[in-house]
Amino acid sequence: MEETHTILVVEDEATLREALVYNLNKEGYAVSQASTGLQALALARTLAPDVIILDLMLPELDGLSVCRSLRREPATADCSILILTARGGELDKIIGLETGADDYLTKPFSLGELLARVRALLRRTRSSAPRDTLEAGNLVLDLIARRATRNGAELALKPKEFSLLAELMRHRGAVLSRDLLLSHVWGQDFFGDDRTVDVHVRWLREKIEDDPAHPVHIQTVRGLGYRFEA
Ligand code: CA
Repeated sequence: MEETHTILVVEDEATLREALVYNLNKEGYAVSQASTGLQALALARTLAPDVIILDLMLPELDGLSVCRSLRREPATADCSILILTARGGELDKIIGLETGADDYLTKPFSLGELLARVRALLRRTRSSAPRDTLEAGNLVLDLIARRATRNGAELALKPKEFSLLAELMRHRGAVLSRDLLLSHVWGQDFFGDDRTVDVHVRWLREKIEDDPAHPVHIQTVRGLGYRFEA
C-alpha cells in the first residue's frame, strides 16, 4: 500500500492555514498545523514530517529561527522545508535558502503551484527504511508479526483494527481524514462509507483506551477526522 506522506503547515493567518490544510488533506496527505513558531518546533520534533510548509512572519518565534533549529536537530534535519513569505525580493530568498530551506514561495501564490512544489519536494525525500515496530506510551505494535500489546499484554485486534491503529500511530499528531483512512486501510476499491471508519475507531477505543468514552489516544477532530496522540 502506498505510503502516506506527512505535512506540517505552519501559518498564523487562520484563513490561509485552513485552506492549505483542507486542500493538502484532499490530496491524500496527513496534515498537521501550527500557528506559532514554538508550536511548529514542538510538533515538528514529534512528527518529523516529510514536508514543512513554513511561513516566515510568525508569533513567538519567526520562521527563519524555526528553520535553523529544525536543521540542527537530528529528528528534523531531513524534513523538506518550503518557506512561505509575503516579503518578496532576493535578500529574503538568499536568507531563506542559507538557513536550510529547500524551496521558497512568495505570497500570493496559487494552490496549484504550492501542490507542485510539495510533490517535487516529496520526490526528493530520501526514503527511510521501513520501521518494524511502532510504540506510543503503553502501546507497542509489531508490524512484522502484526501483534499489538498494551502494557505488555497482547491485544486481540482484528486485521483491519490493527491496520487502522498502525496507520494512526504512524502519523501521530496529524489529523487523518476518514477518506484517507478508508483508502489506506481498506483500499481504493472498498465500497464503504465514513461509518466504517467510525465503527472501527469505536472498537479500537474499547481495546486501547482506559476510558473509551473519554479517549486520549484516538481523538476525534470535528469535521476533519481522527488524530492519534501518545
Ligand atoms: Ca504570517
